[in-house]
Amino acid sequence: MPAKTDRISLYHITWGEQLGICTLYFWGCNLRCRICLLKKEVFDCHLPETRLRIYDPSFVSPRPREFLTLERTLEILDRLPIKRVFLMGAEPLCEPFLPQILEFLRREKSCVISLLTNGKLMPPARLLDQVIFSIKAITPSLHRNYTGFSNRSILKHFRELAGLTRIKLHTETVFIPDYVDEAEIMNIAAFIASVDPDIPLRIDAYLPVPGQTWRVPEIGEIEELKDKVSKILPQTTCFHGKQGDEPLVYEVKRIF
Ligand code: SF4
Repeated sequence: MPAKTDRISLYHITWGEQLGICTLYFWGCNLRCRICLLKKEVFDCHLPETRLRIYDPSFVSPRPREFLTLERTLEILDRLPIKRVFLMGAEPLCEPFLPQILEFLRREKSCVISLLTNGKLMPPARLLDQVIFSIKAITPSLHRNYTGFSNRSILKHFRELAGLTRIKLHTETVFIPDYVDEAEIMNIAAFIASVDPDIPLRIDAYLPVPGQTWRVPEIGEIEELKDKVSKILPQTTCFHGKQGDEPLVYEVKRIF
């Protein structure tokens, strides 16, 4: 059993004071996605120093070099007036100490806890308020090609979570023309609708990462797809991926 003073996989924390939003970034993942954005940027892309560089084709951010201990993590969280926490990064569920962090937040802060996950591991629902579940593909061969792994347990976990009324379940996926194309996005939407048509879906435009040659979808293309998907999943939105210079809703600063 690791000690409280051992390093954990938490490598980055940001803070949005106006809304009391704290975001924790964990390193390490149990999938190997070909289009993983961490190949390009590992830090919060809402920071003044990071928010435009993700659109620079030649930019690749440095890997994380420093990691917190559990003890230091809890000290940092303790001094913040947190209203909402987002857990993301790579895959937070790969962190063995995550339950201790969640229990601390539950006990010491009356904040909303949101987890972004690939769903390969079953999230600890009793410690969470919201799960943003990323579905990469439904077609088994495509999912394996994209992530290196089967999606069988992922889809099973999704169905299980959808059955838990205390959790707010949201979904997201990435539209990659000629790879996770319109037909596959419709497959994803049909799967979600078969579980519950009221679950929100966000379709993100592919952002180029080093070593891959897929193109970025046009704004009109992703809007058209969103309209089509909305017919079976009314709560569908999209992110164009060409909005780097739009004003932020709230200011974000790095605290680790
Ligand atoms: S699940 Fe997310 S963090 Fe993990 S490899 Fe895929 S894109 Fe990257």
